[in-house]
Amino acid sequence: MTFDSNNPLGAHGAPVGTSTSSEIRRPIFQKTLKTSIGCTGVGLHSGVRVAMKLHPVAPDTGIVFKRIDLIGGGATIKASWNHVADSRMCTVLADENGIGVATVEHLMSAFYGMEIDNVIVEINGPEVPAMDGSAEPFIFLIECAGVVEQDRARQALRILKQHSYTNGNKMVALTPWHDGLRVDFHIDFHASAIGRQTCSFQVDPDTFREELSRARTFGLLSEVTALREAGLARGGSLSNAIVVDGDRVLNDEGLRHDNEFVRHKALDAIGDLYLAGHPILAHFVGRCSSHADTARLMRQVYADRSCWEMVDMWHEAPATPAWVDMPGRVAFA
Ligand SMILES: [Zn+2]
Repeated sequence: MTFDSNNPLGAHGAPVGTSTSSEIRRPIFQKTLKTSIGCTGVGLHSGVRVAMKLHPVAPDTGIVFKRIDLIGGGATIKASWNHVADSRMCTVLADENGIGVATVEHLMSAFYGMEIDNVIVEINGPEVPAMDGSAEPFIFLIECAGVVEQDRARQALRILKQHSYTNGNKMVALTPWHDGLRVDFHIDFHASAIGRQTCSFQVDPDTFREELSRARTFGLLSEVTALREAGLARGGSLSNAIVVDGDRVLNDEGLRHDNEFVRHKALDAIGDLYLAGHPILAHFVGRCSSHADTARLMRQVYADRSCWEMVDMWHEAPATPAWVDMPGRVAFA
C-alpha cells in the first residue's frame, strides 16, 4: 500500500481518485464486520464471566465499547488513547464517569492486525474475556463474521519525527517508517525460561495471523499472589496464560513459539497503538516496556502536533500498466 498526505492532490499531483497515464490508484476503504458475532469468557484480571458481541457499524465510527450491564442505559467508550484510565497491568478504557472496560489490548490488536476500522463491542461486564490469552480467538470471531469494505477511504496516522520515552531500563520509541507499521520488541527477564528475547515484524494481516496472533499473555508464578492481593489476575489460569517459574514453563502443552513471550509483547503494543484510532505508519521499538510506557509515548506524540499527520491510504498500483511497455505484443492476450 502507499500513503499520501491528506490533501486534494495525490503524490504526483493528480486529483485523488483519478488516474494518470502511468498510474492507476485505488483508495483503501474502511472495513467493518459483515454480521454480528459473540463469545463468552472470563476476564483475566477480574475473574468475571462476561458475554461480548461484536457488531458492524457505520464508517468513521471507530472501535467503540458499550457496557450494557449497567442501569440507566450503560456506557459508551471510544477506543482512544485519551480514554486510557489505567495501564499498569493491562489497558483499561473508561468514560468521564470512570465506567470502563479492562484488558482491551488483545482484541484491539486483532482489529489492527485484520485491518478492521469500525466495530461496536457490546459487553456485559468490566473486562474483555481472556479466551486463551492470545488474539487468535478474536481473529476466529472476525473471520466467522466476515469482513466488508465500506464506502469511505481509510486514513492513517503517519509519524513525521522520532519520539521516545525512557523509564529506567524501559524504552519505547516511534520513528518515521516508509511502509506501514514495523514493530521491534526486546525483553530481558530474570526468569531463565523467558530470558532475553527479540522479535521484529512488518505488520500486515498474514504476518499478524501467522506470527503474532497466537502468542499468549504470561505471568510469573512468584508474582501471582501479589497480583491477586491487588485484585488482579483473578481469572488467570494455565488455560489463558503461560505461567513461568524460574526455568520452567508450567503449562503442559509448552510454548507455541520459542520466543512466544516477546511476540506477545509485540501483540500488546500493536493493540495499544491502535488506540490512536487509526493505523500508524511508523517504526515502533519497545525495550522491556509495558502498556503504561506505550500510553505515555502516545500522549507525548499527540502533544507535539509537528510529530504526525493524517494521510489517505492507497493500494499499491503498478507504476506502469502492463500493456504500456510491451511493444509488439497484443494487449490483454
Ligand atoms: Zn497481553
